Amino acid sequence: MKTAIINGKIFDAVSGTTRQNGAVILEDGKIQAVLQDAREADRCCVEEWIQLGEEECLLPGLIDAHVHLAFGGVDKREKADSAPYRQMRFIQNGIINLMHGVTTLRDCGAADGLDINYKRALSRRITIGPHLYVCGQPLIASGGHCTYMGRQVDGPYEARKGTREQLDKMVDFIKIMVTGGISTPTGTPCTAQLKMDEIEAIIDIAHMNGKYVSVHLQGGDSLIPCVEAGVDTVEHGIFLTREGIDCMKRHGVYYIPTLSAIKMIADKGAEESVPLDHVSIEKAKAATAAHRESFLAAVEAGLVIGAGTDYKHGILADELETMVEYGWTAKDALLAATRNNAQILRIEDRAGTIEAGKDADLLVVRGDPTQCVSHIRNVHMVFLDGERVVQDGMLAYPLTYLVEPIQSISNSGK
Ligand SMILES: [Zn+2]
Repeated sequence: MKTAIINGKIFDAVSGTTRQNGAVILEDGKIQAVLQDAREADRCCVEEWIQLGEEECLLPGLIDAHVHLAFGGVDKREKADSAPYRQMRFIQNGIINLMHGVTTLRDCGAADGLDINYKRALSRRITIGPHLYVCGQPLIASGGHCTYMGRQVDGPYEARKGTREQLDKMVDFIKIMVTGGISTPTGTPCTAQLKMDEIEAIIDIAHMNGKYVSVHLQGGDSLIPCVEAGVDTVEHGIFLTREGIDCMKRHGVYYIPTLSAIKMIADKGAEESVPLDHVSIEKAKAATAAHRESFLAAVEAGLVIGAGTDYKHGILADELETMVEYGWTAKDALLAATRNNAQILRIEDRAGTIEAGKDADLLVVRGDPTQCVSHIRNVHMVFLDGERVVQDGMLAYPLTYLVEPIQSISNSGK
């Protein structure tokens, strides 16, 4: 079926501006054409017309480049939940993201094969959720950051084995926890926990197999050696030096700062229903000001910056608002969550912009988010592979979306 979305504004994430009176034609789950003038759609044999309001804006479906779908928030007790329970979290968090206009997610670490199972269930349409890219278990040092989900490795031999184990699960990329973090009590944000021979062994095996390497690295002396050893993305990067940023720029390394995740712990960690321990909150408070400086220095240096949220869900708008609060334009923040994130995830061929040939993953919001980025919160419609899956705050996909209906069981052969 051919569908035309007409009127309203279009932010295609190519030019970085919105324009009025265009049309987007969808067919077989893809964007078939982008028209400058909606009247041209009359010649396209359209079967379904979707008229947007004049104040509405059509955008590419958003991409969140850093989530952990196994968790719902900062409640540390949930890390002890059983694997089947955490698997259900994946389904819930996937739907929450979809309802907020996020049509692609990158899960940055999960234990027990939960991310792999969920991705498989999505591909077989057992449930509905955004397109998903996974890394399996992050490689960590014994006793290092995120022991509850990491594959602990000591020495280059184990590092290679641990990496190959993830590759064997058909992951999309490899994740390494290089430094400590805010939310785990052991380690500090600027102290490396893995040695360079371990990190180099992981990067070597990942690249040999055509996978890129993402590192959790909050600051400290390990940044430059990691970049020089070939890492592809730096996550969090709270305490970045000018030297480190220049090195990232020279090597074309992407930066996903997750600004709001750190800020939220500092601002609201103590008010959570299960408050974070004071050690984590103090670490986050000390980190917020430095994070802003790192972000602005990265902007100035011209790094490709992505948008990611980390441990809570449906809050990509918080991240974009924080980017604007720290001094970025709304347009740049929107590009981070669309075009830049597609580049970071290596999926520019199918997502990130509204262009002919790409997947019909689209979002309609009320208001113009290039004028005020908070309009991204006013989700009206979400399209996933051309299907309208969210309409006015409700999941709206047809039963036919679930292509494996329950078969009636017959005993006739008895
Ligand atoms: Zn994370």
